Order: sequence, then structure tokens, then C-alpha cells
Amino acid sequence: MSAIYDSSNIFAKILRGELPAHQVYEDADTFAFMDIMPRSTGHALVIPKTPARTIVDATPTQLSACLATVQKIARAQMAAFGADGITLQQFNEPAGGQVVFHLHFHVLPRWDGVKLQPHTGQMEKPDVLAANAEKLRAALSA
Ligand code: 5GP
Repeated sequence: MSAIYDSSNIFAKILRGELPAHQVYEDADTFAFMDIMPRSTGHALVIPKTPARTIVDATPTQLSACLATVQKIARAQMAAFGADGITLQQFNEPAGGQVVFHLHFHVLPRWDGVKLQPHTGQMEKPDVLAANAEKLRAALSA
């Protein structure tokens, strides 16, 4: 049994507009934005707009909506950044590596021979995140 959803988490605050984010995409059910400590150039996060703590308590509807958005973001990353591939990551509960307790999917552009940066490593400059978000938005609307 997973722990209870706490609406004071950072991503819930972003969804409520209480904290800023470099938004990439939004639809009725999902929201996508740049990870503030990217593991690769263009690293984005996809979240459901409704509360879910982990993959364990999420509904099939939340998961399918997120995966449809993950695919859109992955395609846009391939185009926008000339990625050779995409890695998905998704962590659940502290034991599973989760730090922010609102369900999220990491979508990571990859290049042949380029290793990922550490998880929750270094904070990226806001202008770099803004520029990468703009590239993704342009690819999504192309
Ligand atoms: P996880 O819960 O998947 O282990 O890690 C949470 C992820 O959220 C990390 O990749 C971290 O860089 C990212 N993150 C943490 N705080 C913020 C924030 O305030 N804004 C954004 N955009 N990303 C964040």
C-alpha cells in the first residue's frame, strides 16, 4: 500500500501556478515541463494534472494520458535536439529513488556515447531551460 498524496509537493505547486516552470506542453489531463536539474540536454518531465503519488496509486486513465504525452515529448526531443534515442525513467517511493511525490515520467534525450548526468545533480541556468523549452514547443507545433 503506498503512502497518501500530499498536495504540498513541488509539482502540485507548479500545477496550481504557485511555483514557476518552463512549460513545454499541456492538455486536459497532463502537463510537461523542463527538469530543473537535467540529466541530459532537453530532459523533460510529464505529470498528470490530477493527484497521484506513484505508479501504484495512479489510475489506468492517468497512466495512459501520461504515456501519450511522453510519446509526443519524445518525438519532439528527437526532432528538436537531434537525439539518437530516448530514455524513460520513473521512480516510486524513496526506496525506488523518488524525491518529488507527484507521479512523473522523466523523458531523456540520448546521444550515442554520451552518459547521463547524475540524478538530481546540478541546477541548470534558467535561460538554458527556457531556450530548450522553446525548442521543444516549436517541434511540438511543427
Ligand atoms: P524523482 O522524484 O523522479 O526522483 O526526482 C524529481 C525530479 O524533479 C528530479 O529530476 C529533479 O531535478 C526535478 N525537480 C525537483 N524540483 C524541481 C522543481 O522545482 N522544478 C522542476 N522543473 N524540476 C524539479
